[in-house]
Amino acid sequence: MINDISFLTGIKDPGLKFDQDGIEDTGNLKILHLIKTGECQCPVCGRPMLKNGFRKRPVKIQGLPIANVPTVLLIKKQKYICPSSAICPQTVTKIAPIIGIKAGCRIANNVKQAVTLNLSKNISQKDLGEQYWVSASTVGRIIEACEDDFRPVKGWLPSTIAFDDFKSGRFAPKGMSMILMNPVDHRTIDIMLSRTSRALRTYFYRYFTRRARLTVKLVVVDLYQPYRSVIQELFPNAHIIADHFHVVVQAYRALQKIRIRVMNHYGPGTHEYRALKRFWKLLLQKINSLDNVHYYPRRNFRGAWLSNSEVIDRLLAMSDDLRKAYDYYQTLVDAVDHQRCEEFKSLIKRKLTNLPAELQKVQRTLRHHQKEILRSFKHHLSNGPIEGTNNKIKVIKRTAYGFRNFFRFRLRILMALKNSHLTVITCPKTKNSPSNLVA
Ligand SMILES: [Zn+2]
Repeated sequence: MINDISFLTGIKDPGLKFDQDGIEDTGNLKILHLIKTGECQCPVCGRPMLKNGFRKRPVKIQGLPIANVPTVLLIKKQKYICPSSAICPQTVTKIAPIIGIKAGCRIANNVKQAVTLNLSKNISQKDLGEQYWVSASTVGRIIEACEDDFRPVKGWLPSTIAFDDFKSGRFAPKGMSMILMNPVDHRTIDIMLSRTSRALRTYFYRYFTRRARLTVKLVVVDLYQPYRSVIQELFPNAHIIADHFHVVVQAYRALQKIRIRVMNHYGPGTHEYRALKRFWKLLLQKINSLDNVHYYPRRNFRGAWLSNSEVIDRLLAMSDDLRKAYDYYQTLVDAVDHQRCEEFKSLIKRKLTNLPAELQKVQRTLRHHQKEILRSFKHHLSNGPIEGTNNKIKVIKRTAYGFRNFFRFRLRILMALKNSHLTVITCPKTKNSPSNLVA
């Protein structure tokens, strides 16, 4: 028969034996009375030590729950002594160590491992603690113990990197942090506390060698101007690629602004105001995905039976600026979606004075970043994976009811995401599952 203790608790110490009390079950707590004894060598002279009674009080160790009931191991530990002699000048005393339990720690290693494995799941610290009958702050400490595994690798950066900011918490300046990612294999490299240029500079100088930085060839980033000089300084060999999402967002925001301006021009209570308010989503929908087959009665247009594309026609008839903005936005979306360089070039050649004021600013920004945007068409890279990651971060934040500590926040995100350090992969069920063993 297998050693009962290792079968029950997962602690594989051959020196552990059951005490005469054996197993006690109080209903809501299982207590295993154990003795740890056996031979022990003197750390000074290496000879076997003499047994010297037991530790006064048994140590109480938190084990893995058995049948979902919290389990405590009460272990009587053997004391040893090596009396002073010629080889061993001073008397040496020792208490038996246990394999699978760290000295001085009251929680078994396998409990900590189980918690660590579950940290990659979307579960709050408190719930995870309850699952293994440890406190939330213990879980916090277990998270912090993983810090070493998630340190940036000083001498390595992928040839393509992307960064983007996201809303983190009150611990960050202005509540915004940065995520650094490899857009090719979608692995997160790191989370940075602050998104300021200064913080970026300090971060890369501190955590990466010059050689690592020189290997970076492409950097995907949004259209925020101050990053440009920092990127050129940090990654002298890199070309900047403008992120698709942020390019389209420019025109998107301008279109929304113009729609609201037109709405306010008509004034609340008018049918134009209500129609523009009601159909804002249709305006932003891609023109070739608009439904022109199904007709519905529209209350905003006196019950007329209109298809979605007809609704758009009627909305655009309300304002010339809106029509221009709509056309601009749709052309940009189309060019970006299908990587059409010529279409994009002709778009940014449109005369500034012909555009509404809101779009003039966009036009200037796009002209300014022309090269980076065209480069992004060529490389088919974008911050899309980061945007997906941002959603996941939001969920993590919500599950935890927010974070107060950036340190734990960063580790928790890195554990949950595909990252470039290590990935906690739970074994697929088919391998070594009990049913396979039976078969
Ligand atoms: Zn000795």
